[in-house]
Amino acid sequence: MTTASAHQSIRLCALLILVCAAALLLPWGRPALGAETDGSPCMLTDEQRAAYEADGTLEARIAYQESLRNDRPSEGLISQAMERERAAQGIGAYAVPSNWSSGTASVGAAHVLGLRITFPDHQFEENDTLDALQSIIGPKTQNAAVPAGTSPFPYESLSAYYYRASYGKLSLTGETFDYAAKYERDYYTNNPKSLVAEALAALDESEDLSRFDANEDGKLDAVYVHFAGPDTGWGSVWWSNESTASDPTLYEDGSVRLWNMVLLAENSSNSWAARTIIHETGHVLGLPDYYSARSQTGQGSDHSGILTFDMMMQNMGDHNGYSKWLVGWLPEEKTPASSRTKTAYP
Ligand SMILES: [Zn+2]
Repeated sequence: MTTASAHQSIRLCALLILVCAAALLLPWGRPALGAETDGSPCMLTDEQRAAYEADGTLEARIAYQESLRNDRPSEGLISQAMERERAAQGIGAYAVPSNWSSGTASVGAAHVLGLRITFPDHQFEENDTLDALQSIIGPKTQNAAVPAGTSPFPYESLSAYYYRASYGKLSLTGETFDYAAKYERDYYTNNPKSLVAEALAALDESEDLSRFDANEDGKLDAVYVHFAGPDTGWGSVWWSNESTASDPTLYEDGSVRLWNMVLLAENSSNSWAARTIIHETGHVLGLPDYYSARSQTGQGSDHSGILTFDMMMQNMGDHNGYSKWLVGWLPEEKTPASSRTKTAYP
């Protein structure tokens, strides 16, 4: 080997070593949380199932997930859709948006509240800022500037996503606030609603909370709680999930109360965080997960559900036509029932 070719070989070896080192540093794997995956936060993966079977928590976790009742569409949402169809057939009053207890209107305006909560024993990572949370929710008022975020189109913000998904029918804005909880996080594990109630009571002293009830149904439009500290895994409190809190505590001189509550585990600067709150907001609107938590195994042969790109299945893409029909976003002339011949019903 000549000196020149020896040098060339050394350079090639050095290049290979660099490439291998870079490959090891890149996130090829599938971290449990914090990286983009193909499932919604409500979906149990094979890896999680195996881990929870091993540590004996699987059944309790499935039971917790099922207790959120996100495996079926809201009964109120179905009633509203049926009422709308009857109205389209001329056999009932027009009922969109109706007065069912959604908390958040699916058509019209919504003004949501984001809480970024630290605990004496848990703080946020440096890049997990209030601005990052505001950026994934959207503007504070119509046409207000949104802090630069990291979530790519079409998940750049809750507001932009739902404006497009609803064909301009749902106009969502929101405001975010920091709150430091009084107690360590474990204090709230058995009753996360009490954490939100504590934060709302404090906020009620300085803010007019009634502005977070855009549809004036006496229920706050969705409250998003981004909590500090590590998540505790699928099917547990300190994870990303949605529930109807129906807290009787009244705020702002008795005019509003807590209703829909979304917990967000993800770092707000992670692009997955926007997709997570977009998915959870589907539940806020009354939409279900389109699979069963009990039979879903991520990669297994017993997949359940609609098994396609959908915000309530794979946490990606748009909401499907059935969902859009349920929430009242389809133009009347394009819905199957209203395209039928309008014969009189007995
Ligand atoms: Zn879900």
